[in-house]
Amino acid sequence: MNQYAGICCRSSFIPDDKMRAMSSSPVSDSPLVTKTVTLTGWGRIAPSTAELATPVSGAEAAGLLRLTAGRGTAVIPRGLGRSYNNAAQSAGGVVVSTARLNQILSLDPATGVAVCEAGVSLEQLMVAALPHGWFVPVSPGTRQVTIGGALAADVHGKNHHVAGSFAGHVSAFDLLLPGGEPVTATPEDDPELFWATAGGMGLTGLITRATIRLKRVESSLVAVDTVKTADIDETMAVLADHDKRYGYTVAWTDSLATGAGLGRSIITSGDFAALADLPPRQRADPFAFDPRARIGAPDLFPPGLLNRYSIRLANEAWYRRAPRLREGELQTISQFFHPLDGIRNWNRVYGPGGFRQYQYVIPFGAEAAVRRSFEMVAGHPAPSFVTVLKRFGNADPGLLSFPAPGWTLALDFPARTPGLGPLMDELDRLVVANGGRVYLAKDSRVSAATLEEMYPRLPEFRKLRAELAPHGTLASDLSRRLGL
Ligand SMILES: Cc1cc2nc3c(=O)[nH]c(=O)nc-3n(C[C@H](O)[C@H](O)[C@H](O)COP(=O)(O)OP(=O)(O)OC[C@H]3O[C@@H](n4cnc5c(N)ncnc54)[C@H](O)[C@@H]3O)c2cc1C
Repeated sequence: MNQYAGICCRSSFIPDDKMRAMSSSPVSDSPLVTKTVTLTGWGRIAPSTAELATPVSGAEAAGLLRLTAGRGTAVIPRGLGRSYNNAAQSAGGVVVSTARLNQILSLDPATGVAVCEAGVSLEQLMVAALPHGWFVPVSPGTRQVTIGGALAADVHGKNHHVAGSFAGHVSAFDLLLPGGEPVTATPEDDPELFWATAGGMGLTGLITRATIRLKRVESSLVAVDTVKTADIDETMAVLADHDKRYGYTVAWTDSLATGAGLGRSIITSGDFAALADLPPRQRADPFAFDPRARIGAPDLFPPGLLNRYSIRLANEAWYRRAPRLREGELQTISQFFHPLDGIRNWNRVYGPGGFRQYQYVIPFGAEAAVRRSFEMVAGHPAPSFVTVLKRFGNADPGLLSFPAPGWTLALDFPARTPGLGPLMDELDRLVVANGGRVYLAKDSRVSAATLEEMYPRLPEFRKLRAELAPHGTLASDLSRRLGL
């Protein structure tokens, strides 16, 4: 029997959140804090050491927050550690993992409303909901993220232009304030707390559970159209056109192409296939979903394997292989939404030096700046391996939510590439000059002053934080660097 069928279910999913235990003896006298760990984000840079606590219930988590608040110890929640840098770390403090708050408390097959503990992963929710014809309303490029992490970063997916970001599909959440007091927030009853927490990177409290409205689907397959574009102008034109015609769309771009090929891309756009569109063989099991990773990456990749030359070769081969136009291809959820999840620990391919992500949004109307950013990246020795361009739709009211109407570009760079810092600084200046911003879940080096220019509502966020936690016990490595 499917363990998720019915109303109440417990999962045995134990997330791999990249924690390396250094010692098993607790340095705190609290039984709630179990070990000292060194943590990084998905980019494997900037490690820091903290005490790890893994509460099994909201009550235990509340006790822990009361304890840390009483002692003035810094504390930060952590989900699956898929933010790229150090948003879920707190050097010298306590990191509260939600790994054991992982129950789907209810899932109504008629309405698609799911109540989940914060440590439930999107993959877990997909496995539970698909047999009833429901899918997560918003999925980032990996399904290995928790509900708490998705809400705290207010994540976006390929459907942002029609669906907005994750928080827009959450009707309520339970939060433990920095001192451990439990509150329930809804957008109607407590919009201030709701929209400070959505995108607030764990700095308003620990989310313990959330109510999510799922999306109705007729199958687990996506009918995908693929278009190969010749340059940045065609890429932007096709993306704009596809936003009007498809629920999901994104461009994978060759960041090293220059001259006439600058910004050439493979654009994939699609929608979930209707039952009637499936071949007879697949109609028998329309919600089939195999979430297993196909292979794992060893931790043996030498430094420098990904460089300008190897990435140019990979990009060239991948671009040449793509069809000029392919219509109606049926792809699985893994193929369309999460191709990188097929390789466990793919982040190791960057070698021991790790990698940095950079993601900006630049408002519509500033297309020249988007083009300029492609020229800067293509002309620089730093190569971006995974380069994704997409258009965002309307912003939600999250004080620190990243998405805003405009063009969003995500870039991945091997962290040790010479000259990477100056390139990113230059990109920052371009982004700020054009009214854009970078994504906190991916950032590793923007300055506090630059961030203030990017997020005009930061003072409101800081004010609310000060009211919630006068002693400032919630803090991450990210929040300290940026004064969030
Ligand atoms: C391959 C890959 C692709 C990605 N693609 C996208 C994408 O397309 N779109 C997108 O938006 N993002 C994307 N991301 C980023 C990712 O979705 C976010 O960083 C997300 O927040 C990670 O969730 P997590 O559970 O791993 O949280 P963590 O990384 O552990 O934590 C992220 C933040 O959430 C806070 N947090 C976690 N749990 C809680 C909780 N219970 N209560 C309060 N705060 C909490 C943490 O303090 C931290 O600030 C991608 C990441 C990867 C690795």
